[in-house]
Amino acid sequence: MKYKNRPSFATRAIHTGQQPDPETGAVNVPIHASSTFVQQELGRNKGYEYARVSNPTRSRLEQNLASLEGGIAAPVFASGMAAINAICSMYRSGDHIVSGHDLYGGVPRLFNQVLADFGMEFTYVDTSDVRNVEKAIRRNTRLVYVETPTNPLMALSDIAAIANACHRRKVELAVDNTFMSPYFQQPIELGADMVVHSTTKFLNGHSDGLGGVVVCTKKEQAEKLAFIQKAAGAILSPFECWLILRGVKTLAVRMEQHDRNGRFVAEFLARHRKVKKVFYPGLPEHPQYELAQRQMSGFGSMITFETGSLSNAKKMLKRVQVCSLAESLGGVETLISHPATMTHAALGEKGRREIGITDGMVRISVGIENVQDIMDDLDQALAAI
Ligand SMILES: *Cc1c(COP(=O)(O)O)cnc(C)c1O
Repeated sequence: MKYKNRPSFATRAIHTGQQPDPETGAVNVPIHASSTFVQQELGRNKGYEYARVSNPTRSRLEQNLASLEGGIAAPVFASGMAAINAICSMYRSGDHIVSGHDLYGGVPRLFNQVLADFGMEFTYVDTSDVRNVEKAIRRNTRLVYVETPTNPLMALSDIAAIANACHRRKVELAVDNTFMSPYFQQPIELGADMVVHSTTKFLNGHSDGLGGVVVCTKKEQAEKLAFIQKAAGAILSPFECWLILRGVKTLAVRMEQHDRNGRFVAEFLARHRKVKKVFYPGLPEHPQYELAQRQMSGFGSMITFETGSLSNAKKMLKRVQVCSLAESLGGVETLISHPATMTHAALGEKGRREIGITDGMVRISVGIENVQDIMDDLDQALAAI
C-alpha cells in the first residue's frame, strides 16, 4: 500500500493482502479452487505449483494475519489444534515444553495423549507467576507455551516478563492469543516469538469455519512451518481462507462491540444474587486487573461465572434462549457452555480440581446482539436456580 506511515489496524484488516484482484478488479480475493497450477515450461511457474504447498487465496490470508499480529509470516492450518501441532512438530523427541496449566482442553490432550508418545516432554505450571516458568525451564526446554487469558478461568500471564525470562535462557515463547485477538493484545510487541490462534473464534468471527494460524517473527520459523505445511499437509482450504479474509474485515468493529457487551454482562453477573463469583479481567476485583489494563487494550467478551453446583448450572443452561448452549466462542452470537462436561471434560475430575475448574462454572462468550437482550435472557435463566 502506498501510505507513508503504516496504516492503522482497522485499515490493514480490510486492505492488507485484500487488494483487488489484479486480473479482474474484483474487490474481494477470489477463492482459488485449484489443486494445481499450470507451469509455462519446466522449472518456470507463476509462484504456485500445488495447493498443499501454497495457494493464492491462502497467501493473501497469511499476509493479512502476519500484518495484524506484527509478524513476518503467518502460515495457516486446518484448525487451531493443527496449528499447535505444527508448532510442536518443529521440535523433536527429548525436547521439553513448559506449558500453562489452565489451557484450552484440546491442548493437554494433544500433548499428553499424542506427543508424549513420541518422546516429547511437558511440564505444566501456573504461568500467571513468572517465577513458576523460570523454575520449570530445564536444559532441554525449547518452548514456553502460554495462553492468556486462560480458558476458562480468565487468569492472565505477563507476556513481557515471561518473554524476558525465556530469552535469557534462549527458549522461545509462543502465546495463544485466541481470546483477545490481535485487536486487543499484541504478544509479539510484548516479546513473544510466535503467536497462535484458533481462527475458528474471533478472527473468523461467524462460527462458520475452522482454522488455525501460527504467526512467526523469525525467518527460520517461517521456513520450518512452511515445510511442515507441505510435508504434513494440514493446510487450510481456499474456501476457509476466504471466510477468514471476509471475517477479519470487521474484526475491529466486532471486537469493540464484544468488549462493550462483555463489560456490561460481567458487571450484571457480578451484581446478580444467584451468581457466586465472576471471572473477567475487566472487573476491578479481578486479581490481575492492573496487568489486564497494561497488557491488553480491551477486556474482550469471555466471562466465566460460578453458579454453585452442577445442578444449578444445568438448570440455568436449560433455560437460555438468546444464548446458545454450545462449545466454541468468538462468534457474533452469544455462546454459553459448561467447561466441566464440555470443553474440559477430557481433563478428568482430578485434573479440573487441580486447576480450579468446578462443576458449577459456566462460561459465556458474549456476542454482539443487543446487550439488554443478553442480560434479560441470563436473568430469566438464572431465576431457575
Ligand atoms: C478453540 C481453541 C483452540 C483449538 O482450536 P480449533 O480451531 O478448535 O482446533 C485452541 N486454543 C484456544 C484458546 C481455543 O479457544
